[in-house]
Amino acid sequence: MKYHIWTIGCQMNVADSQRVASTLERLDYQSTRRAEDADVIVLNTCVVRQSAEDKATGHLNSLRPLKKRNPKLVINLMGCMVGPRNSAKLQSLFPFVDVFSPPADPGPLISYLTQAESRSLEEAETRQRFDIMDGELLLPAHERGRLVSANVPLVNGCSHACTYCVIPYRRGPERSRPVEEVLREVHSLVAQGVKEITLLGQIVDRYGKDLPEGTSLAGLLRRLQQVEGLERIRFLTSHPNWMTDELLQTTAELPKVMPHIEVPVQAGDDQVLAHMRRGYTADDYRHLIERIRTFIPDVAIANDIIVGFPGESAEQFQHTFYLLAELKLDVVHLARYSVRPGTVAARKMQDDVPEEEKWQRFRLIEELQEQIATEINARYLGKTVEVLFEGQVKGRWKGRTPTNKLVFVEATSAESLAEEPGQDLHGRVLPVAITWSGPWSMQGRFLLQLFQTDPLSPAPNGKQK
Ligand code: SAM
Repeated sequence: MKYHIWTIGCQMNVADSQRVASTLERLDYQSTRRAEDADVIVLNTCVVRQSAEDKATGHLNSLRPLKKRNPKLVINLMGCMVGPRNSAKLQSLFPFVDVFSPPADPGPLISYLTQAESRSLEEAETRQRFDIMDGELLLPAHERGRLVSANVPLVNGCSHACTYCVIPYRRGPERSRPVEEVLREVHSLVAQGVKEITLLGQIVDRYGKDLPEGTSLAGLLRRLQQVEGLERIRFLTSHPNWMTDELLQTTAELPKVMPHIEVPVQAGDDQVLAHMRRGYTADDYRHLIERIRTFIPDVAIANDIIVGFPGESAEQFQHTFYLLAELKLDVVHLARYSVRPGTVAARKMQDDVPEEEKWQRFRLIEELQEQIATEINARYLGKTVEVLFEGQVKGRWKGRTPTNKLVFVEATSAESLAEEPGQDLHGRVLPVAITWSGPWSMQGRFLLQLFQTDPLSPAPNGKQK
């Protein structure tokens, strides 16, 4: 029996899909890249923006003929499009879907399959089996021993309720996973070859607020630092209001925690920020960036921006533009505002910035950011950086710097320099001299002497291990 998973959206969805794959493989299903060959198709959806929802709907509709041809095919719609509540409306819209699952929950699909196939496992027993393995994630077969970097959900849901955002309605309130469960999962991932983990949460820096007193992201990072075989740790997304000095200090100190912070500002105008209910001003954000850069001097900072929020005037947009021009952050994830049903903005504000204007603002920031990223990345030219290699793309090895910059190295340069030709660099951290830089990636070459000595795992970021 074969399964096929289609995923759209954030890293949290990628992690959720991995969990579904893992549970299906425990039921002896095998992965297939081709939906046409599958017995079970899972569509893991995102509705954070209208464009993502449209893609999911389009993809779902494209499955209709497959189901018509093969009525035994099981189609599972999962994720934020379904949300935590009942799916009656979706059922009437998509009657060919067999199972609807909320985000992060393989349960409904597993119950359906175990019943449909009249397996001897009782539902309770099945649940128990999956509860037992919950802390230990068995990667799908095609990723075991190959996956270098894994996402680990840390805080599920969100309780902040920014006025534009549908996530709290779809993923439910904020719930932190217990420390021991996270540690077990990370240990099991490392045992399967993973070298880097990214801890995920809508507001990851709030980790532990709902757990026994004293639990914090900084404390968890210290525990994770001790995990043998784990090379790198990242965490995202942070909210500006919860980035404590302790967290920044810990990030700066711990060798495995990478100098990479994702902390969205969303807008650079105080009134727009207030309407978004973000809970800070542009000046607060300026000071935060200053603090981050003081604690972690070589840090890379990524940011999210929404253009065309209801009521955003040309002048207010300029405040966002100038804030970005001033702060020169490494990455901007850019979105045009889209109305999300049920949100405060959808109920109380008018989507009054014309689509064309949203596009224009989008392009202005895109161009600005291209210049900034070009400038920042050019500073890497001639320098040697430690790159964690994830795999090959078109004859080039692909990896990331501690600051999460994408680096490509000609595979042939590895082969000619390495003692054994064709060596597998998956999961290796190697020094690379940067020879070319662009706004979105860099190129480099390996350093000869490092292949003649021990090429493995120099300390990332120059910190002592
Ligand atoms: N929790 C994070 C935060 O602090 O905002 C990120 C969560 S969200 C999944 C990812 C990004 O989608 C947001 O940062 C925001 O820029 C964008 N987004 C959310 N709702 C949106 C909407 N209605 N229209 C356009 N972009 C939106």
